[in-house]
Amino acid sequence: MFFLASTKKYVFFSWEWNILNTIYPDRKRVGSFSGEIMKKQKNSFSPRAISARMAYLCKTFPFVRIKRCGTSLCNRPIEALVMGCGRKTLLFVGAHHGSEYLTANLLLDFAEELCRAVDAGKKLFSFSARELLERRTLILLPCVNPDGVALALCGASSDNPLGRKQIAMNRGSEDFSKWQANARGVDINHNYNYRFYRYKELEKGHGILPGRSRYAGDYPESEPETLAVCRLVEEYRARLSVLLSFHSQGEVIYYHDSPLTRQGARFLSRTSGYSLEVAEGLAAYGGLTDWANTLSIPAYTLEIGRGENPLPRDTAPLLYITLREMLISSLAFF
Ligand SMILES: [Zn+2]
Repeated sequence: MFFLASTKKYVFFSWEWNILNTIYPDRKRVGSFSGEIMKKQKNSFSPRAISARMAYLCKTFPFVRIKRCGTSLCNRPIEALVMGCGRKTLLFVGAHHGSEYLTANLLLDFAEELCRAVDAGKKLFSFSARELLERRTLILLPCVNPDGVALALCGASSDNPLGRKQIAMNRGSEDFSKWQANARGVDINHNYNYRFYRYKELEKGHGILPGRSRYAGDYPESEPETLAVCRLVEEYRARLSVLLSFHSQGEVIYYHDSPLTRQGARFLSRTSGYSLEVAEGLAAYGGLTDWANTLSIPAYTLEIGRGENPLPRDTAPLLYITLREMLISSLAFF
Protein backbone atom coordinates (compact mmCIF):
# COMPACT_ATOMS: atom_id res chain seq x y z
CA MET A 1 0.00 0.00 0.00
CA PHE A 2 1.17 3.54 -0.55
CA PHE A 3 -0.16 6.95 0.19
CA LEU A 4 -1.35 9.21 -2.60
CA ALA A 5 -0.53 12.62 -1.22
CA SER A 6 -2.49 14.63 -3.77
CA THR A 7 -5.84 13.00 -2.93
CA LYS A 8 -5.07 11.93 0.66
CA LYS A 9 -6.09 8.39 -0.30
CA TYR A 10 -4.42 5.08 0.40
CA VAL A 11 -3.75 2.89 -2.62
CA PHE A 12 -3.54 -0.85 -2.09
CA PHE A 13 -1.59 -3.37 -4.15
CA SER A 14 -3.60 -6.23 -5.67
CA TRP A 15 -2.36 -8.83 -3.16
CA GLU A 16 -3.46 -6.51 -0.39
CA TRP A 17 -6.89 -6.22 -2.00
CA ASN A 18 -7.13 -10.01 -1.91
CA ILE A 19 -6.50 -10.00 1.84
CA LEU A 20 -8.97 -7.18 2.36
CA ASN A 21 -11.59 -9.05 0.39
CA THR A 22 -11.07 -12.07 2.59
CA ILE A 23 -11.48 -10.21 5.85
CA TYR A 24 -13.85 -7.50 4.67
CA PRO A 25 -16.21 -9.60 2.60
CA ASP A 26 -18.93 -6.95 2.74
CA ARG A 27 -16.91 -4.98 0.24
CA LYS A 28 -18.35 -5.03 -3.28
CA ARG A 29 -16.39 -7.87 -4.80
CA VAL A 30 -17.13 -10.67 -2.35
CA GLY A 31 -20.17 -11.57 -0.30
CA SER A 32 -20.03 -13.91 2.67
CA PHE A 33 -21.70 -14.61 5.96
CA SER A 34 -19.27 -12.60 8.06
CA GLY A 35 -19.85 -9.59 5.88
CA GLU A 36 -23.61 -10.02 6.16
CA ILE A 37 -23.33 -10.08 9.94
CA MET A 38 -21.28 -6.92 9.95
CA LYS A 39 -23.72 -5.22 7.55
CA LYS A 40 -26.70 -6.09 9.74
CA GLN A 41 -25.14 -4.19 12.63
CA LYS A 42 -25.89 -0.49 12.48
CA ASN A 43 -22.33 0.22 13.44
CA SER A 44 -19.73 -2.43 12.71
CA PHE A 45 -17.50 -1.11 15.52
CA SER A 46 -20.13 -1.34 18.28
CA PRO A 47 -19.86 -3.82 21.18
CA ARG A 48 -22.81 -5.71 19.71
CA ALA A 49 -21.08 -6.00 16.32
CA ILE A 50 -17.89 -7.13 18.05
CA SER A 51 -19.82 -9.88 19.89
CA ALA A 52 -21.62 -10.91 16.69
CA ARG A 53 -18.37 -11.21 14.78
CA MET A 54 -16.83 -13.28 17.61
CA ALA A 55 -19.88 -15.57 17.64
CA TYR A 56 -19.60 -15.94 13.87
CA LEU A 57 -15.94 -16.99 14.07
CA CYS A 58 -16.74 -19.44 16.84
CA LYS A 59 -19.62 -20.95 14.90
CA THR A 60 -17.72 -21.16 11.61
CA PHE A 61 -14.38 -22.51 12.78
CA PRO A 62 -14.47 -25.52 15.13
CA PHE A 63 -11.04 -24.72 16.57
CA VAL A 64 -12.20 -21.36 18.00
CA ARG A 65 -14.00 -20.94 21.29
CA ILE A 66 -15.30 -17.96 23.21
CA LYS A 67 -14.23 -17.48 26.79
CA ARG A 68 -16.37 -15.25 28.97
CA CYS A 69 -13.98 -13.18 31.09
CA GLY A 70 -16.41 -10.90 32.87
CA THR A 71 -19.21 -8.39 32.57
CA SER A 72 -18.96 -4.62 32.29
CA LEU A 73 -20.65 -2.16 34.63
CA CYS A 74 -23.56 -1.86 32.16
CA ASN A 75 -23.86 -5.62 31.85
CA ARG A 76 -22.11 -6.08 28.53
CA PRO A 77 -20.06 -9.27 28.07
CA ILE A 78 -16.28 -9.07 28.16
CA GLU A 79 -15.21 -11.98 26.00
CA ALA A 80 -12.09 -13.48 24.49
CA LEU A 81 -11.50 -15.73 21.49
CA VAL A 82 -9.29 -18.70 22.28
CA MET A 83 -7.65 -20.80 19.57
CA GLY A 84 -4.70 -23.13 19.23
CA CYS A 85 -3.37 -25.83 21.49
CA GLY A 86 0.23 -24.98 22.32
CA ARG A 87 1.38 -24.49 25.89
CA LYS A 88 2.97 -21.12 25.11
CA THR A 89 0.14 -18.59 25.07
CA LEU A 90 -0.06 -15.13 23.54
CA LEU A 91 -2.62 -12.66 24.87
CA PHE A 92 -3.63 -9.63 22.79
CA VAL A 93 -6.12 -7.13 24.21
CA GLY A 94 -7.80 -4.10 22.66
CA ALA A 95 -10.15 -1.22 23.41
CA HIS A 96 -9.24 -0.36 26.98
CA HIS A 97 -10.25 3.12 25.90
CA GLY A 98 -13.67 3.88 24.45
CA SER A 99 -12.61 6.05 21.54
CA GLU A 100 -9.98 3.47 20.49
CA TYR A 101 -12.47 0.95 19.07
CA LEU A 102 -10.36 0.47 15.94
CA THR A 103 -8.06 -1.69 18.08
CA ALA A 104 -10.92 -4.20 18.58
CA ASN A 105 -11.51 -4.27 14.85
CA LEU A 106 -7.79 -4.88 14.24
CA LEU A 107 -7.78 -7.95 16.49
CA LEU A 108 -10.91 -9.35 14.84
CA ASP A 109 -9.44 -8.85 11.37
CA PHE A 110 -6.40 -10.77 12.56
CA ALA A 111 -8.58 -13.55 14.01
CA GLU A 112 -10.55 -13.84 10.80
CA GLU A 113 -7.55 -13.99 8.48
CA LEU A 114 -5.84 -16.55 10.72
CA CYS A 115 -8.97 -18.74 10.97
CA ARG A 116 -9.53 -18.71 7.22
CA ALA A 117 -5.87 -19.63 6.61
CA VAL A 118 -6.03 -22.52 9.12
CA ASP A 119 -9.25 -23.73 7.53
CA ALA A 120 -7.76 -23.62 4.02
CA GLY A 121 -4.37 -25.04 5.07
CA LYS A 122 -2.69 -21.87 3.83
CA LYS A 123 0.59 -20.21 4.65
CA LEU A 124 0.76 -16.69 6.02
CA PHE A 125 4.12 -15.15 5.22
CA SER A 126 6.37 -18.21 5.49
CA PHE A 127 4.36 -19.81 8.31
CA SER A 128 1.83 -22.59 8.04
CA ALA A 129 -1.20 -21.19 9.86
CA ARG A 130 -2.08 -24.65 11.17
CA GLU A 131 1.40 -25.21 12.57
CA LEU A 132 1.35 -21.83 14.28
CA LEU A 133 -1.77 -22.81 16.19
CA GLU A 134 -0.50 -26.30 16.95
CA ARG A 135 2.48 -24.77 18.70
CA ARG A 136 0.81 -21.81 20.38
CA THR A 137 -2.43 -20.82 22.04
CA LEU A 138 -3.75 -17.41 21.03
CA ILE A 139 -6.17 -15.45 23.19
CA LEU A 140 -7.71 -12.32 21.72
CA LEU A 141 -9.71 -10.05 24.00
CA PRO A 142 -10.73 -7.40 21.48
CA CYS A 143 -12.80 -5.15 23.72
CA VAL A 144 -11.96 -4.67 27.41
CA ASN A 145 -14.23 -1.64 27.74
CA PRO A 146 -17.50 -2.21 25.82
CA ASP A 147 -19.36 0.49 27.79
CA GLY A 148 -16.70 3.05 26.89
CA VAL A 149 -16.86 2.04 23.23
CA ALA A 150 -20.66 2.37 23.25
CA LEU A 151 -20.37 5.83 24.83
CA ALA A 152 -17.74 6.97 22.33
CA LEU A 153 -19.90 5.76 19.42
CA CYS A 154 -23.40 6.66 20.58
CA GLY A 155 -23.01 9.14 23.43
CA ALA A 156 -25.08 9.24 26.62
CA SER A 157 -28.78 9.80 26.95
CA SER A 158 -30.08 12.49 29.30
CA ASP A 159 -33.26 10.38 29.69
CA ASN A 160 -31.82 8.37 32.54
CA PRO A 161 -29.86 9.12 35.74
CA LEU A 162 -26.68 7.31 34.58
CA GLY A 163 -26.68 9.22 31.27
CA ARG A 164 -27.11 12.55 33.07
CA LYS A 165 -24.22 11.68 35.40
CA GLN A 166 -22.05 10.74 32.41
CA ILE A 167 -22.85 14.02 30.67
CA ALA A 168 -21.89 15.86 33.88
CA MET A 169 -18.59 13.88 34.01
CA ASN A 170 -18.05 14.87 30.37
CA ARG A 171 -18.09 18.52 31.51
CA GLY A 172 -21.68 18.95 30.40
CA SER A 173 -20.95 17.98 26.80
CA GLU A 174 -23.03 15.48 24.84
CA ASP A 175 -20.11 14.87 22.49
CA PHE A 176 -18.61 11.60 23.73
CA SER A 177 -16.47 10.88 20.66
CA LYS A 178 -13.27 11.29 22.68
CA TRP A 179 -14.48 9.37 25.75
CA GLN A 180 -11.89 6.87 27.02
CA ALA A 181 -13.06 5.75 30.45
CA ASN A 182 -15.65 3.18 31.49
CA ALA A 183 -19.30 3.90 32.33
CA ARG A 184 -18.49 5.61 35.64
CA GLY A 185 -15.56 7.67 34.46
CA VAL A 186 -12.66 5.41 35.52
CA ASP A 187 -9.77 5.05 33.08
CA ILE A 188 -9.27 1.28 33.13
CA ASN A 189 -5.68 1.52 31.98
CA HIS A 190 -4.81 3.42 35.18
CA ASN A 191 -6.73 0.99 37.40
CA TYR A 192 -4.17 -1.85 37.53
CA ASN A 193 -2.04 -2.48 40.57
CA TYR A 194 1.19 -0.78 39.57
CA ARG A 195 2.38 2.33 41.51
CA PHE A 196 -1.33 3.00 41.97
CA TYR A 197 -1.21 5.12 45.13
CA ARG A 198 1.69 7.21 43.84
CA TYR A 199 -0.50 7.95 40.81
CA LYS A 200 -3.39 8.96 43.09
CA GLU A 201 -1.14 11.69 44.56
CA LEU A 202 -0.24 12.93 41.07
CA GLU A 203 -3.92 12.74 40.09
CA LYS A 204 -4.82 15.06 42.95
CA GLY A 205 -2.06 17.49 41.92
CA HIS A 206 -3.42 17.58 38.36
CA GLY A 207 -7.04 17.95 39.52
CA ILE A 208 -8.09 14.78 37.69
CA LEU A 209 -11.66 13.67 38.54
CA PRO A 210 -13.91 10.87 37.26
CA GLY A 211 -14.55 11.71 33.62
CA ARG A 212 -13.41 11.26 30.08
CA SER A 213 -9.90 9.95 30.86
CA ARG A 214 -7.04 9.50 33.35
CA TYR A 215 -9.06 8.99 36.57
CA ALA A 216 -7.66 5.81 38.17
CA GLY A 217 -10.56 4.75 40.41
CA ASP A 218 -10.70 4.39 44.21
CA TYR A 219 -8.36 1.41 44.52
CA PRO A 220 -6.53 -0.99 42.17
CA GLU A 221 -8.80 -3.36 40.22
CA SER A 222 -11.91 -1.56 41.50
CA GLU A 223 -13.57 -1.90 38.07
CA PRO A 224 -15.17 -5.08 36.73
CA GLU A 225 -13.42 -4.55 33.38
CA THR A 226 -9.99 -4.46 35.06
CA LEU A 227 -10.84 -7.51 37.15
CA ALA A 228 -11.88 -9.46 34.05
CA VAL A 229 -8.45 -8.88 32.48
CA CYS A 230 -6.56 -9.58 35.71
CA ARG A 231 -8.35 -12.90 36.21
CA LEU A 232 -7.56 -13.94 32.65
CA VAL A 233 -3.89 -13.00 33.05
CA GLU A 234 -3.68 -14.83 36.41
CA GLU A 235 -5.26 -17.93 34.91
CA TYR A 236 -2.73 -18.15 32.08
CA ARG A 237 0.16 -16.52 33.94
CA ALA A 238 2.56 -19.49 33.83
CA ARG A 239 1.96 -19.97 30.08
CA LEU A 240 1.98 -16.39 28.80
CA SER A 241 4.91 -15.77 26.48
CA VAL A 242 3.74 -12.24 25.64
CA LEU A 243 0.96 -9.76 26.30
CA LEU A 244 0.21 -7.04 23.77
CA SER A 245 -2.16 -4.24 24.72
CA PHE A 246 -3.45 -2.23 21.75
CA HIS A 247 -4.27 1.46 21.98
CA SER A 248 -4.34 4.32 19.53
CA GLN A 249 -2.61 6.45 18.41
CA GLY A 250 1.04 7.37 17.70
CA GLU A 251 2.72 4.42 15.89
CA VAL A 252 4.73 3.80 19.04
CA ILE A 253 5.47 0.77 21.21
CA TYR A 254 5.81 1.55 24.91
CA TYR A 255 7.69 -0.85 27.14
CA HIS A 256 9.79 -1.09 30.28
CA ASP A 257 13.33 -1.73 29.14
CA SER A 258 14.67 -4.89 30.81
CA PRO A 259 16.20 -8.23 29.78
CA LEU A 260 12.62 -9.63 29.91
CA THR A 261 11.32 -7.27 27.25
CA ARG A 262 14.27 -6.07 25.17
CA GLN A 263 14.38 -8.72 22.45
CA GLY A 264 10.62 -8.76 22.00
CA ALA A 265 10.53 -4.97 21.75
CA ARG A 266 13.05 -5.02 18.91
CA PHE A 267 11.08 -7.71 17.10
CA LEU A 268 7.80 -5.80 17.41
CA SER A 269 9.38 -2.57 16.24
CA ARG A 270 11.08 -4.26 13.27
CA THR A 271 7.92 -6.01 12.07
CA SER A 272 5.54 -3.07 12.58
CA GLY A 273 7.79 -0.16 11.67
CA TYR A 274 6.73 1.51 14.93
CA SER A 275 9.27 3.26 17.13
CA LEU A 276 10.16 2.12 20.65
CA GLU A 277 9.69 4.36 23.64
CA VAL A 278 9.88 3.96 27.40
CA ALA A 279 6.67 5.21 29.06
CA GLU A 280 7.09 8.34 31.17
CA GLY A 281 4.97 10.79 33.17
CA LEU A 282 1.32 10.01 33.96
CA ALA A 283 1.34 7.24 31.34
CA ALA A 284 3.73 5.15 33.45
CA TYR A 285 1.31 4.28 36.27
CA GLY A 286 -1.46 1.72 36.69
CA GLY A 287 -1.37 0.30 33.16
CA LEU A 288 -1.99 -3.33 32.23
CA THR A 289 1.45 -3.88 30.72
CA ASP A 290 3.16 -2.19 33.72
CA TRP A 291 1.40 -4.63 36.02
CA ALA A 292 2.00 -7.66 33.77
CA ASN A 293 5.74 -6.91 33.72
CA THR A 294 5.77 -7.25 37.52
CA LEU A 295 4.48 -10.82 37.01
CA SER A 296 7.47 -11.47 34.70
CA ILE A 297 5.27 -11.46 31.59
CA PRO A 298 6.85 -9.64 28.62
CA ALA A 299 4.21 -7.01 27.92
CA TYR A 300 4.00 -4.10 25.50
CA THR A 301 1.62 -1.26 24.77
CA LEU A 302 1.15 -0.60 21.05
CA GLU A 303 -0.30 2.73 19.95
CA ILE A 304 -1.67 2.01 16.49
CA GLY A 305 -2.17 4.55 13.72
CA ARG A 306 -1.46 8.22 13.67
CA GLY A 307 -3.72 11.23 14.00
CA GLU A 308 -6.35 12.13 16.53
CA ASN A 309 -8.68 9.73 18.38
CA PRO A 310 -11.06 8.46 17.29
CA LEU A 311 -9.07 7.51 14.20
CA PRO A 312 -11.18 7.62 11.02
CA ARG A 313 -13.10 4.37 10.63
CA ASP A 314 -12.16 3.99 6.98
CA THR A 315 -8.49 3.62 7.98
CA ALA A 316 -9.27 0.25 9.65
CA PRO A 317 -8.20 -1.85 6.60
CA LEU A 318 -5.00 0.15 6.30
CA LEU A 319 -4.16 -0.44 9.96
CA TYR A 320 -4.60 -4.16 9.55
CA ILE A 321 -2.46 -4.31 6.41
CA THR A 322 0.29 -2.37 8.18
CA LEU A 323 0.29 -4.60 11.24
CA ARG A 324 -0.54 -8.07 9.94
CA GLU A 325 3.09 -9.15 9.54
CA MET A 326 3.78 -8.26 13.15
CA LEU A 327 0.60 -9.96 14.39
CA ILE A 328 1.15 -13.16 12.42
CA SER A 329 4.87 -13.52 12.98
CA SER A 330 4.40 -12.88 16.73
CA LEU A 331 2.90 -16.36 16.87
CA ALA A 332 6.23 -17.79 15.79
CA PHE A 333 8.49 -15.39 17.69
CA PHE A 334 7.02 -15.40 21.21
ZN1 LIG B 1 -5.55 4.10 24.99
